[in-house]
Amino acid sequence: MTPLARKLVRRIEAAGPITLAEYMAECLVDPEHGYYATRDPLGSAGDFTTAPEISQMFGELLGLALAQAWLDRGAPSPVALAELGPGRGTLMADILRATRGVPGFRDAASVHLVEASPALRNVQRKTIGHPVHHHDTVDDLPDAPLFLVANEFFDALPIRQFQRSGAGWQERVVGLKEGRLSLGLADPTAPDFLDHRQGDTEDGDLVEVSEAARSIAWTLGKRIAAEGGIALIVDYGDWRSLGDTFQALRDHQPTDPFEAPGDADLTAHVDFEALARAANLTEVSAMVPQGVLLERLGITARANMLASKLSGDALRSHIAAHRRLTHPDEMGTLFKAIALYQSGTPVPPGFDTP
Ligand code: SAH
Repeated sequence: MTPLARKLVRRIEAAGPITLAEYMAECLVDPEHGYYATRDPLGSAGDFTTAPEISQMFGELLGLALAQAWLDRGAPSPVALAELGPGRGTLMADILRATRGVPGFRDAASVHLVEASPALRNVQRKTIGHPVHHHDTVDDLPDAPLFLVANEFFDALPIRQFQRSGAGWQERVVGLKEGRLSLGLADPTAPDFLDHRQGDTEDGDLVEVSEAARSIAWTLGKRIAAEGGIALIVDYGDWRSLGDTFQALRDHQPTDPFEAPGDADLTAHVDFEALARAANLTEVSAMVPQGVLLERLGITARANMLASKLSGDALRSHIAAHRRLTHPDEMGTLFKAIALYQSGTPVPPGFDTP
């Protein structure tokens, strides 16, 4: 048993079963034993890799989309250039490098990172090499027009799971069986946040909700409505959650999420409809697959330009990275994006109105 498993067993013995969201939060961000708090999961020995770690093109194109949206809004100053869950800081470093050529943008922007992990905050400072302000939550972002990206952040936020049971829902909870952590079902309830799922689910169907994700999307919407700006959200998932997508990854391999709490990365697919509904104070674009978004932002032209300076293994790995980001069999369709933007302002580059 991991130290965190022992801590969770004691907690459940004392106070009864916990929700999956409580379990996930402990496993990921417990200050002593949490997965993100204790390591850099994106390092070469890490458990997973992400789009900005695959190729510099991802951050360059998102950076230029942010800068174009800034120009489209009359180049306001000052603004907050912000990122949620920056991991190793690679995406922000690529954004800052790519936007050097946009006159005025970098002078107008201060850089704000929302990051829970002290270990990753240090990595981010080193990678970015430019003054940054770290914050614990989106509530601490400054009052200014917001130019924000979040890649593979929302999938790390705690989810709850509910199984349809007649007219109600039974929550899946983590309890104990023979002294070990084990999944069970709570008594049926009828939470109002699941009312809109009555029409498209049947007995036994499972849906996922993330209160943390909804609350962050609401805050972003409120700030953009009040101050202006845009938020670009990229993640794996779909418009509407259906089925169990709770997963654990350890050493690049899928593993039982209850096997080694604190030592495996836990994620769930993002329910983009829930984010869009929560961000209701501002406009939300149509959802677009990552491959389509990157094509619209010009990834093929950028890839060809970079390729002209490469040969041999470097060229082969560059071509593979382009394919990995965009191809439907790779990240191109599993990953989706939406943009939040203020009413009456242009839809951000690469996105459409719904
Ligand atoms: N965006 C990065 C890394 C994604 S990993 C990339 O694309 O490479 C998820 C990131 O979110 C990590 O930096 C993790 O520490 C952070 N994170 C997870 N849960 C968080 C929370 N509740 N609050 C703030 N940061 C969180």
